[in-house]
Amino acid sequence: MIPFNKPFLTGNEFKYIQEAVASGKISGDGMFTKKSHEFFENRYGFKKCLLTTSCTDALELAALLIDIAPGDEVILPSYTFVSTANAFVLRGAKLVFTDSGPDNPNMDVNAIEPLITSRTRAIVPVHYAGIACDMDVIMELANKYNLYVIEDAAQAIDSFYKGRPLGGIGHLGAFSFHETKNISSGEGGMLAINDDKFIKRAEIIREKGTNRSQYFRGEVDKYGWVEPGSSFLPSDLIAAFLFAQLERLDMIQQKRKALWDLYATELEPLRSIIQLPEIPGYATNNAHMFYIVCRNLDERTRLISLLKQHDILSVFHYLSLHESAYYKNKHDGRILQNADHYTECLLRLPMFFNLEFSEVNLICDLIKKFYN
Ligand SMILES: *Cc1c(COP(=O)(O)O)cnc(C)c1O
Repeated sequence: MIPFNKPFLTGNEFKYIQEAVASGKISGDGMFTKKSHEFFENRYGFKKCLLTTSCTDALELAALLIDIAPGDEVILPSYTFVSTANAFVLRGAKLVFTDSGPDNPNMDVNAIEPLITSRTRAIVPVHYAGIACDMDVIMELANKYNLYVIEDAAQAIDSFYKGRPLGGIGHLGAFSFHETKNISSGEGGMLAINDDKFIKRAEIIREKGTNRSQYFRGEVDKYGWVEPGSSFLPSDLIAAFLFAQLERLDMIQQKRKALWDLYATELEPLRSIIQLPEIPGYATNNAHMFYIVCRNLDERTRLISLLKQHDILSVFHYLSLHESAYYKNKHDGRILQNADHYTECLLRLPMFFNLEFSEVNLICDLIKKFYN
């Protein structure tokens, strides 16, 4: 069987977990958490990184940092994972959904400005499949209307916009190390803080609202409760696992990109029939995902079952949030035609480090046969 995803081990995960245990400190912010922070800060120039227990938590931390309160409005794509929305809904925000663009599932940046009101506080772009949203347009709007930009970079590790790392352009950027992402610690995440003014408070909120981090650096002589917070920091065991993966990031990315390129080359002849991923000139491809967009729901259903008959697991993706059971009645009723289209027609093909090139060839042959 060819699964949709299979976790990959570099071989050092257990060794580092053992080292963490031997160090005598396996709670948060231990040796491997520090190494992981340094890795990201050095490699991508993020001002400050903080590991979290998930991207979901990183987004919740971001919503707390920008003081989202009931009645605030947040603009985000409808075609995204629930966590992008939950972080803000939990603080009482009203969600204002944009449609996806016609060329890829990212938010249609031209649809944002008419949605901005006096209550708008933030724009939350999601870099779908690790392909950048047009960040210049988003940052210009944010400057013009004094809004925060929180990048949901869950899928966007090691991907760039005009040479700048995703997650490092908005005020805050949230990453995921969930099992399904390029780099994984099972569950895990990180907040990149790109605006200095958030650094101190982010450390405090992440540590139950205490100034514990400052205390451990010797900046204050006792620590205590300074504002409402939560516990967003992972155990150093998680960080140890993560660091083993980060060390092999280049190798992982190289293989994924080669698999992705093979899909793209093999399926190119179908471009007149189905929509294939296109990388805008301002973006890079981090090979997080290879997807195709079928012409209709029925076609996608038939293709999924054909692949399944050959023991290949392909999967559809989001049910757009404006159509979800929870938000349907709260949505303002605008029709989001492209988001609906991706909901019904987008199909993700197997993509993981240990996928064989011959398996990609097999999958592509079956898809080509289906369409010819
Ligand atoms: C995976 C993902 C998340 C959630 O990440 P977790 O680490 O599982 O919380 C959020 N947003 C997007 C776009 C994702 O793909």
